[in-house]
Amino acid sequence: MEKRLIIAIDGPAASGKSTTARLLARRLGYVYLDTGAMYRACALQLLRDGISLEDLPAIEAMLKDLDIRVEISGEENRILLGTEDVSQAIRANEISQLASSVSALPAVRHRMVELQREMASAGGFILDGRDIGTYVFPNADLKIFLTAAPEIRAHRRWLELKNKGVEKDLDAILAEIKERDHNDSSRSLAPLAVAEDAIVLDNSQLTIDQQVESLHGLVLQTLEAK
Ligand code: C5P
Repeated sequence: MEKRLIIAIDGPAASGKSTTARLLARRLGYVYLDTGAMYRACALQLLRDGISLEDLPAIEAMLKDLDIRVEISGEENRILLGTEDVSQAIRANEISQLASSVSALPAVRHRMVELQREMASAGGFILDGRDIGTYVFPNADLKIFLTAAPEIRAHRRWLELKNKGVEKDLDAILAEIKERDHNDSSRSLAPLAVAEDAIVLDNSQLTIDQQVESLHGLVLQTLEAK
């Protein structure tokens, strides 16, 4: 039987990781796991509980009780806190920025990484995030680092918001993206970084279809080499 790979797709904010990972998962019949959504759910819980990021004992207690579940059906991920579906709530802009700070806390990362390893170790998974190839699955079968110029990523995010009826200043989006890149790359534990054996794909000039096609080719090569 064909080996079921673990595929890591890392990269900065708005680099198209989730769209690419979702489409590739559909094509391969793999499961897509959105690890960023898990950090977002933690951020939402902390915000709701009114816990400050300095209050480490309260954060530890929150993590102990945290009932976070990722319901996966094919390439769709529904994120639940207890019985509440928070998949939409975690997409708020405020949560994007907060998740970046929350994800730098070692206690949060340890818990989330533990859950990610439990879910995906058997293979047949595509995970997207910041540290999948460097930290969560350093032995992943294929590691991709997706990136694009910050201005292009900001424009994509601007368009995405516009299509949802949200008007937001392009410069403000660019500033937020740069801030998130900086936070994610400079934290001490599992920062955003290109794994030594990752293939870097700058998609500034690529369409989604071209990207998925090229990643699919890499998956086939990886399978042949197994
Ligand atoms: O990918 P997404 O924008 O949903 O991620 C939200 C935040 O969660 C990121 O800015 C990053 O700080 C954090 N994150 C992380 N490690 C991952 C995935 C996301 O630190 N594997």
